[in-house]
Amino acid sequence: MDIDINIGKKIDLHMHSTFSDGVFTPAELVELRKNEGYDVVAVTDHDGAKGVKEALAAGKASGVTVIPGIEIGTVFNTAGIIPGAGDSSMGEGEIELHILGYNIDPDNKALNDQMQEIKDFRDRRNQKLLWYFQEKGYDIKYDDLIRNPGQDYVAKPDFAWVFVNRGYVRNVTEAFRSEKFLAAKAVQRLKQMPYPTKDAMDLIRGADGVPVLAHPMKIKGIGEKGSDEFFDDLIRLLTQLKEWGLYGLECYHPSASEQDSERLVDIAHRTGLKITKGSDYHGPQNKKRA
Ligand SMILES: [Zn+2]
Ligand SMILES: [Zn+2]
Repeated sequence: MDIDINIGKKIDLHMHSTFSDGVFTPAELVELRKNEGYDVVAVTDHDGAKGVKEALAAGKASGVTVIPGIEIGTVFNTAGIIPGAGDSSMGEGEIELHILGYNIDPDNKALNDQMQEIKDFRDRRNQKLLWYFQEKGYDIKYDDLIRNPGQDYVAKPDFAWVFVNRGYVRNVTEAFRSEKFLAAKAVQRLKQMPYPTKDAMDLIRGADGVPVLAHPMKIKGIGEKGSDEFFDDLIRLLTQLKEWGLYGLECYHPSASEQDSERLVDIAHRTGLKITKGSDYHGPQNKKRA
């Protein structure tokens, strides 16, 4: 199936379920969008395809077309590709990119093995975070980080949530900005597995899927968001990704203004990429987990 903006009247190709950091199960997400009149949706959980089958079954039962999806966090090295680029919180010249994969086979072994490796790495990272905070005198255990029954995706926002609940900080933003908590140097060094962008794209292609660059307006380290420099750097980036087999660009996303989206659509046309649209829905704002 061709994946682009024209596959349905109302589409949402980017949602998170309880299999990563969303509030609703895959079936609940499909049901929700069906009730809102959507024709085509995709559940795209972070670093895992475990919710895909439930979403597909819910789609079959409700008549909504469900596209198997995933969102993989990756690191891209800009050296020799985008002069002067790089996110200061990462390694020299590195930027973080999220790659969406559509039409993937959720049973693909290479894909699932790699996602398991990323999960294992994150679990070990979380354990190191726990030790760090325990050493600082905070009585926090792994179970405290679990907000939903069955949750097996745990990340820094879950730590932030505990700090807010305990009254150590007023809100999640403060937890991320405070050098006593998630902004501490030692904590910032404890990142998720640095998985190369090209590897993620190859993995998606190998699982019969197509890779799409998620929310380009959220990319840090390529010039001020929305500036001419930003868009020039983005074109350099997309030219390289296209060479590696990039299929599409998420031109419509809450991080993009109407004007940004127009510009992104134009860039997608010029770089030969399909245009996609997603809400990046994680659940109702007041219940939002991450
Ligand atoms: Zn993302
Ligand atoms: Zn997302």
